Amino acid sequence: MQVVAKISQSALEHNINYIKSLSPSSKIMSMVKANAYGHQIEYIEPILSKSDYLAVSELSEGIELRKLTKKPIVILSGPFNLDDLTLMIDNEFQFVIHEMSQVSLITSSAKDMSVWLKLDSGMHRLGLSIKDFPEVIKTISRNKNIKIESLMTHFANADDPQNLKNDEQLNCFKEKVQYLEFQNSLCNSAALMNNEELHFDIIRPGIMLYGISPFHQKNENLKPVMEISAPIMSIRHIKKGDSVGYGSTYTADKDTNIATIGIGYGDGYPRHAKNGTPVLINGKKYPLAGRVSMDLITVDISNDHFQIGEKAILWGNENLPIEQVAEFAGTIGYELTSRLTSRVQFQVAE
Ligand SMILES: *Cc1c(COP(=O)(O)O)cnc(C)c1O
Repeated sequence: MQVVAKISQSALEHNINYIKSLSPSSKIMSMVKANAYGHQIEYIEPILSKSDYLAVSELSEGIELRKLTKKPIVILSGPFNLDDLTLMIDNEFQFVIHEMSQVSLITSSAKDMSVWLKLDSGMHRLGLSIKDFPEVIKTISRNKNIKIESLMTHFANADDPQNLKNDEQLNCFKEKVQYLEFQNSLCNSAALMNNEELHFDIIRPGIMLYGISPFHQKNENLKPVMEISAPIMSIRHIKKGDSVGYGSTYTADKDTNIATIGIGYGDGYPRHAKNGTPVLINGKKYPLAGRVSMDLITVDISNDHFQIGEKAILWGNENLPIEQVAEFAGTIGYELTSRLTSRVQFQVAE
């Protein structure tokens, strides 16, 4: 009995085409870090073939991705020592420079390389400071072996379009960076969906490629890429007043039937999913009843009848968007897809 993740190629294709329609003149750097947000890089061919750049977080992810594509790959963390730098250059990776120590590292090399310079425009996580940025551009420009592929910054509140910090960050970028001489890149999915003014030369969609909205609500223009399913393993009748699962957190308020399904936090189903989290069986939603355990969940199917082995869908169906499951589990779709474990069997769906 196994948990299956079906990855829809036509949904991937649809989503990237939708992104192109939103920003027809920008290039696309597709974010495929964390194994394509848990979708597995070997299952996302439409993204690999339709993007201008691909980005991953770490060198090791880049090395895996290089086996699948000759497209430009950007390593977001950049090099931290000479060994990293050598490997990045040898694999023809581009990389992001966000730290002064990285500036010294690359300017001491005579090899050809292409870099992205990241400005900390207000998120205060990564990026060169406003104070250092202009000087860094000058220093690097003197090294003819180093090409500045693009300048970039990242928004802290793109999913909240009313937030005034968005404008502050945009103005900081526009004022402090000589952005006309270079390509510029500012947008994650939320910024790209909310504000055309932020598109600039290169957009950086992540979550929306996978058909998941960066906001709390499902977006009708995106098609879910990953469908997670697991089989019903057992069904039992319980009486009013009986409770279910560890800690007996669910007590039946009437006589009912409980279906036990073969998925748990050991597969990546969130342990914090509350009683009432919807599970889809044969097109109908049923509430989670009792605590999520490592291998199993329990669902109240009332008086409906199912066969053992019947498939339950946990998320990624038109009728059960991941955004809804995430809300019940106090998290976001990003975390659900990227935390699936090696026990899950991946399949390509057309
Ligand atoms: C992950 C990431 C993105 C994509 O963010 P989404 O919200 O998934 O669209 C964009 N830019 C950077 C620098 C990132 O690390």
